[in-house]
Amino acid sequence: MKKQAVVVCPQCSKEVVWTSDNLYRPFCSERCKLIDLGKWASEGYRIPQDESSTEEPSGQA
Ligand SMILES: [Zn+2]
Repeated sequence: MKKQAVVVCPQCSKEVVWTSDNLYRPFCSERCKLIDLGKWASEGYRIPQDESSTEEPSGQA
């Protein structure tokens, strides 16, 4: 007996069975996937950068 992995769609919180047949996992549908991609695009693909390398530590002589 195979146990099916179930994930929750990040977009609509619907339970999705994680199978190789599900092309849109972890989303429940293409629609939810596109909505999430659109959100990413509108946020301008902000990639966290290591800003500590450009910052000089103060207090060091
Ligand atoms: Zn969904």
